[in-house]
Amino acid sequence: MSPLGYPCTWLKISGVNKLVIRLKKRGTPYGVKVPESKLSEGSPIEPAPLPEKVIIPLQQNIGAPCQALVKRGDRVLTGQKIGDSEKFVSAPVHATLSGEVTGTTVVVNPPTGALVEALVITSDGEDKWVELEAPKKPEALSVKEILERIREAGLVGLGGAAFPTHVKLSPPKDKKIDTVILNGCECEPYVTSDHRLMLEQGERVLSGLNIIKKVLSPEAVYVAIEDNKEDAIDHMEGLIASLGFEDFKIVPLKSKYPMGAEKTLIDMILGREVPIGGLPLDVGVVVHNVSTAKAIHDAIIDGKPLIERVVTVTGAVATPKNLLTRFGTSLRNLIEYCGGMDGKANKVILGGPMMGIAQFDLDFPVVKGTNSVLVTEGTPIREQDCISCGKCIEICPMRLMPTVLARYAKAGRYDECKEAYIDDCFECGACSYTCPANIPIVQYIKVAKKELAKRAASK
Ligand code: SF4
Ligand code: SF4
Repeated sequence: MSPLGYPCTWLKISGVNKLVIRLKKRGTPYGVKVPESKLSEGSPIEPAPLPEKVIIPLQQNIGAPCQALVKRGDRVLTGQKIGDSEKFVSAPVHATLSGEVTGTTVVVNPPTGALVEALVITSDGEDKWVELEAPKKPEALSVKEILERIREAGLVGLGGAAFPTHVKLSPPKDKKIDTVILNGCECEPYVTSDHRLMLEQGERVLSGLNIIKKVLSPEAVYVAIEDNKEDAIDHMEGLIASLGFEDFKIVPLKSKYPMGAEKTLIDMILGREVPIGGLPLDVGVVVHNVSTAKAIHDAIIDGKPLIERVVTVTGAVATPKNLLTRFGTSLRNLIEYCGGMDGKANKVILGGPMMGIAQFDLDFPVVKGTNSVLVTEGTPIREQDCISCGKCIEICPMRLMPTVLARYAKAGRYDECKEAYIDDCFECGACSYTCPANIPIVQYIKVAKKELAKRAASK
C-alpha cells in the first residue's frame, strides 16, 4: 500500500525504480466519449436466411470444451444437443439446422483464443426441430430445476464474456447476492442488437429478469440503460409498470465508454468497488446482459435451447442490419445479406470497434458471444513512441497504468505486468483509443495475459 492507501508496487522504468500506484480512488472521472455510429439502431430485427451449412464449435464459452455427441454421417434435428461436458463450468452446444453432420474442422474460440474442434452440419433445407421441453411457468419450477434447464439449453452470457449462465446464477453459499443489475447499456459504438431487443422483445427480457430474481432472491433489481437510448428507457419503464414488475428500477446512465462494463456499472449504480482480482459477487452483485435475460425466458418459458441470437451487421456494408442469426452461420453469409462490403473496407471485426477481435477468415462462424460483425474502412495507422502524455492513465476505468503495462508487455517482462495489476484489465480498449501515439496498448496487454495464462497452466 502507498502512504495514500492505494495499492502500489515498485517497478523498474527506464532503469529507475519507480512506485507504480494503481489509481484506485473512487469518484475519479474516467472513460471516454466515443462517436456512437449506431448506424443500425433504426433497423428492426429480421431473421437472417438459413445457411446451407453451419460450423458449430464445441467450445463457445469460458470453461471446459464439450465432447461431440454425434459423428460424421449422423442426421441431426434443429435444437438437438450435439456436444456436452461433464464439467460444471461448461455449456452444451446444439444443432442450429436439421441435416447431416458432414465433417469436423478447427476454429479459434473467440472468448479464449484457443483452437477448438467444430462440427460441420449440412442443411436438409427443412429446419425440422427436435421435440422441445414442455413450456413451464417459472413458478412451477424449483431453483434447481431452473438452473438445470438453463444449463441444458446451453446458455452463456451473451454480452461477450460467454461465461456459463447456470454458473453465474449459482454463487457460493458464503456470497450473499443482494443486487441484480440487468445490463442494457450497450456502450460499444456501432452495436445495436441489445437496443433493438429491448424495444422489440422487452417483455421477454423482463420475464427473463424475473426468473433471475427468483433464482437469486436479491433485495434490489436495477435495469441499467445508457441515456442515448431514450426510447428503450421509456419502453422498458412502460413495460415494467404494465407487467407488474414495480420492484425493477430503471437507471439511466450517462453515455460514456465503457459504461456497460460490469465493474463500472456496479461502481456507478451502487458505489461499490469490486476488489482487485475479485468478481461482482464479492460485493453482493450479479450482472446479466439483456440478451442473456431474453435467452433465459426462451429456455424456461418456451423450452428452447440457445441456437440463435441478434447480431448487428454494420460499418462499411451496403445496408446495416440487426439479424436474428443461427449460430454457425458464416460472416460471409451475413455480410452478403447486408449488400456486401463497400470498396474501402479494410477489416472485419467480431464485436464492436473497442473490444472486438479482427477476423482473418470470412468463413468463420457466428458463435454465442457474437453480438456484432463490424466492417471497418480507412488506412491502417502506424504506432509511434509513447510521449508520456498520461491520457491512457486518466481514462482507464480500472485506474490502471496502461502505458506501463504496454511497455512491460512489449519487452516480454510479463511478471512485472502481473505486479502492475494486469489481471484487473478487462480489455475495454479505451486506452488504445485515446492514445495519441496510436499504441495498440490493449493488444500488448492481451498478449501478456495469454503468456501469463500459458505459464500458469504449465506449472
Ligand atoms: S484496456 Fe485495460 S488498461 Fe486499457 S483502459 Fe481498458 S481496463 Fe484500462
Ligand atoms: S496515451 Fe499513449 S502516448 Fe500517452 S502515456 Fe499512454 S501510451 Fe503514452
